[in-house]
Amino acid sequence: MAYLNENYLKLEAGYLFPEVARRVREFCEANPEASKRLIRCGIGDVTEPLPSAAIDAMKQAIDEMGKRETFRGYGPEQGYEFLRSTIAQHDYRDRNIEIADDEIFVSDGSKCDCGYILDILGDQNKVAVPDPVYPVYVDTNVMAGHSGPVKSDGSYEGLLYLPCIVDNVFVPEPPREHVDLVYLCFPNNPTGAVASREQLSRWVDYAQEHEALLLYDAAYEAYVSQPNIPRSIFEIPGARDCAVELRSFSKNGGFTGVRCGFTVMPKSLLARTESGKRMPLHPLWHRRWSTKANSVSYPVQRGAAALYTPEGRQQIRVLIDHYMGNAKILREAVAEAGMTVFGGVNAPYIWVKTPDGLTSWQMFDRMLRDLNVVITPGAGFGTQGEGYFRVSAFNSRENAQEVARRLEKMR
Ligand SMILES: *Cc1c(COP(=O)(O)O)cnc(C)c1O
Repeated sequence: MAYLNENYLKLEAGYLFPEVARRVREFCEANPEASKRLIRCGIGDVTEPLPSAAIDAMKQAIDEMGKRETFRGYGPEQGYEFLRSTIAQHDYRDRNIEIADDEIFVSDGSKCDCGYILDILGDQNKVAVPDPVYPVYVDTNVMAGHSGPVKSDGSYEGLLYLPCIVDNVFVPEPPREHVDLVYLCFPNNPTGAVASREQLSRWVDYAQEHEALLLYDAAYEAYVSQPNIPRSIFEIPGARDCAVELRSFSKNGGFTGVRCGFTVMPKSLLARTESGKRMPLHPLWHRRWSTKANSVSYPVQRGAAALYTPEGRQQIRVLIDHYMGNAKILREAVAEAGMTVFGGVNAPYIWVKTPDGLTSWQMFDRMLRDLNVVITPGAGFGTQGEGYFRVSAFNSRENAQEVARRLEKMR
């Protein structure tokens, strides 16, 4: 009989969103009338249709595929040149950040890249993750065997958790101890927090001192509204030598169902062998893509490139303004209901302290029962998420306004 990967058996049984779904289903079955009023502010998925610039480009690409003269088979495994150069130019070089076209690797999304990147990193790495955290960083490391067993509080032995709490306004400072790999995500899911230039500089300093690698998830970069808040780790001097950036078209272009993202892997980034030899990671990452993938479909890459045209940018702006308009409505309504609220200014997520000392799952049940609104319990993102809940602004304006009206009942 074949052996299975026992690391999977270490994973916590109830993954957050299945448990949310189960409770919602049970509630709806028991309360068919209330279920018609249900509004979901839970899962972080976009709700608005794709920008027309992307639609038109994808349609045209499909037409090209239907004609002998313009048909395309396999493309470059790292992504088409037209998309890699567009990304490097607009997202980086136009902002005075030196990134070469071939430092961009096009993928089917950032969630996927979180798992892929572990292919080229050693199993010996000591890994640090924020707490609360996007569960994918933790679970992919558990699957790869980079952790011990789960503890009673849901955290894993062997990982270093960086508490993101009120005292540090949900931005962790570098630890005193040594780690090799650090996951950072700003603007943050789930807390909506952003890191200042100074705070990110301290992380780059730490990485240089400890020869650590920063895995910087900038999936919500487009939501930064305050000037001076960095949108890329590469705005910080020295980051080219210690950071990989993960980006996605999911939350700006609404590509959660289309699937496209990219990593930025500087050629200057080094890692070490067991014997102490320093080598660049870029050739390994290139090789990983050549061997294991054939990139993303041609129409999707055309759709992604169209997001950078003047029309595409304008349409993204409208989408972001829509979601951030919801965030403002929800943020104010939650505050007026007497709760303490964070986030929602540079991110489509609002992070709320539960009232009356409720646990986050108790608050989930109360919101479901009393307001028929689905939120995400903070405890699902890590032990430090206990006592908080996340409200997502990914919704229609109508629903955001209706949630705000229902929150008035809680005053
Ligand atoms: C939504 C999200 C992503 C994007 O994931 P895709 O796989 O590109 O859809 C990445 N990181 C975080 C923290 C997210 O919330």
